[in-house]
Amino acid sequence: MGTDRDRVHTQPCPCGKGTVYVDECSPDHPYARSYKPWLGHGVNCPDCSKVYTTVGDKEVFLVERREHDRHEAAKRQRWQEESAFRDKIWAELENSGDIVAIARHLSSFPSAVAASRYLASLRIHVDSLPRFRSHFKKRACSSDWVKSHIYYKHLPVLIGALGCNTSLVDRLIKEDENLQARRDDKLKVILPAIYGMDGQQ
Ligand SMILES: [Zn+2]
Repeated sequence: MGTDRDRVHTQPCPCGKGTVYVDECSPDHPYARSYKPWLGHGVNCPDCSKVYTTVGDKEVFLVERREHDRHEAAKRQRWQEESAFRDKIWAELENSGDIVAIARHLSSFPSAVAASRYLASLRIHVDSLPRFRSHFKKRACSSDWVKSHIYYKHLPVLIGALGCNTSLVDRLIKEDENLQARRDDKLKVILPAIYGMDGQQ
């Protein structure tokens, strides 16, 4: 068992002595028909492969390795920023008392079923009932439980449902969205794809 490869695209490498290639790959065993094909690609030139690489899963781009590394570093940094901002959201809402208020409210339900129904009524997805029961401490819901089981984007709904002021959480979630909107996949914007799985066949 292995991989079938169809060469679907070749073009000369930047120096002209070799090629840049794109293969459409699929498992070679017949019972794997439901697998979607994927793209394999690379630079087939000893000189150019030191300088260039190919990236992409549906579209393939030829990029300088240096640029690719910068892009990867920027992605990592963005991820760290976003994750730090989420920590800040939780910290601020803990300081403001909102998280404690949510925990207290969830503690007011007589049973795990009731608490889970309440969350479901707010369209907040929680685990299946048996799982929910296994970690939810009725009458003793803690801030830590809220932090580990509630998705941060559901906080405005929960805080609003308590009748508390949502201006802080609204502002934080808005800032979080802005942070995510600034994700600039520059690599894809500035470079023409050399091959697209959906386009060129
Ligand atoms: Zn070359």
